[in-house]
Amino acid sequence: MSLDISATEYLSLVREGGLSVEEFVAKTLERIAKVEDRLHAFITIDSQKSAERARAIDKKIKAGERTGVLAGMPVSVKDNICSTGMRTTCASKMLEGFVPPYDATVVSRLKAEDAIILGKVNLDEFAMGSTTEFSCFGPSRNPWNTDYVPGGSSGGSGVSVSALECMASLGSDTGGSVRSPASFCSVVGLKPTYGLVSRYGLVSYSNSIEQVGPVARRVEDIALLMNVIAGHDPHDDTTAKRKPDDYVQDLDAGIKGKRIGLVKQMAGEGLEKEVSSATEAALARLQDLGAECVTVSLDAIEHSVAAYYTIASAEASSNLARYDNLRYGFDFGNEGYEFKAYVSKVRGNFGPEVTRRMLLGAFVLSAGYYGKYYLKAQQVRAMIKSQIDDAFKTVDLLVSPTMPILPYKIGEKIDDPLKLYLLDINTITANLAGIPAISVPFAISSAGLPIGMQLLANSFEEKALLQAAFSLQQSTRLPGVPI
Ligand code: GLN
Repeated sequence: MSLDISATEYLSLVREGGLSVEEFVAKTLERIAKVEDRLHAFITIDSQKSAERARAIDKKIKAGERTGVLAGMPVSVKDNICSTGMRTTCASKMLEGFVPPYDATVVSRLKAEDAIILGKVNLDEFAMGSTTEFSCFGPSRNPWNTDYVPGGSSGGSGVSVSALECMASLGSDTGGSVRSPASFCSVVGLKPTYGLVSRYGLVSYSNSIEQVGPVARRVEDIALLMNVIAGHDPHDDTTAKRKPDDYVQDLDAGIKGKRIGLVKQMAGEGLEKEVSSATEAALARLQDLGAECVTVSLDAIEHSVAAYYTIASAEASSNLARYDNLRYGFDFGNEGYEFKAYVSKVRGNFGPEVTRRMLLGAFVLSAGYYGKYYLKAQQVRAMIKSQIDDAFKTVDLLVSPTMPILPYKIGEKIDDPLKLYLLDINTITANLAGIPAISVPFAISSAGLPIGMQLLANSFEEKALLQAAFSLQQSTRLPGVPI
């Protein structure tokens, strides 16, 4: 039995009693043990409990008892999503040993459907970054070439799914953190519409723009997970009250007659050559599949990186003010600091990127600068939203490469924050506008590195988005992961 089986197929085999969850989970744990020192996707692995849960599910099935729709599905969860019984570190020294007293809603929904959470996966500290290099536990590595970054901040999600260390993962996407690792690791990653999936129990970075999103090897598995995690949550007032669609049903409806707009500002200058030719090939493919492709201009995108980093940092600086080491944190013993020394010692434990964001955020919110930076950024955000609204009056979907460049070497850009920020140009628009966007594996470069395409849809149009992503996936044949 290959570990690279679709969740849909796996779950039906399990349900019919044709496959033992215990065996499959044991095999997955063996795989983790085999590749983890080269990849470092996981922060915490719970082998024992996973094996116990697997046995319990097998038993339930044998006894003919009712099981959940994800019964026996081995998944990983980004380590900024709260889980009881497993620490949630945010890859920060600040929360190194923190075990949450409650499950995030997305986690309790997975558990309620009998998924097996194998462990918690690596990220940039507090989800701030694009490479997973800003983890206090050290970087994750790209399974397609371990000298390269896997993308981020949900790098552990992308790596664990790509390297067959689990069947799917939950990440979080504030400015591209699900889609960037999906693109760099040749897997699928969806950032849902703001308000479709509960953020209760997601450790806040930038509340007004982030969403939890699924990562999987196949679009159909993303649809399956969305059926479980989407929907109103009384614990999160920002979730919409509408009933979510059934994303699995009619997934193969195709894209005949759909109008798809290539976003000019996401596909011009700054694209690496092979990404650019892959984009052309993707457009041709979408046309072959029956869509009509046009070019759409969203000129507010020119200001989107500046606006995103202003808003995200402002929210981060306020969210991270709570880490005072009084309610949770590390043990200093009885060193007896006076207040100021204590606070600076405690907060000195944040890593460099988080510190940079807090300083930037405090600055753009400060008296005299608020109007100049924060308010301006909010205006840009409104402008982007209105241009997106206009665009969707003429097209059904938008398309662009997910990342403007190919995966790069670990360490290559870490000392140049601005360069890293600029690489988010294609992903942050969906966050600022609140719309859904998905990254689908599309090509492998001449050097063997993955290239993903991004599709974007109007708010709550996940069903159409997934149908298009499914069409694109079905028409693409890519090699399996080399590790
Ligand atoms: N790279 C972006 C940032 O650092 C996106 C991160 C995310 O989506 N969590 O803020």
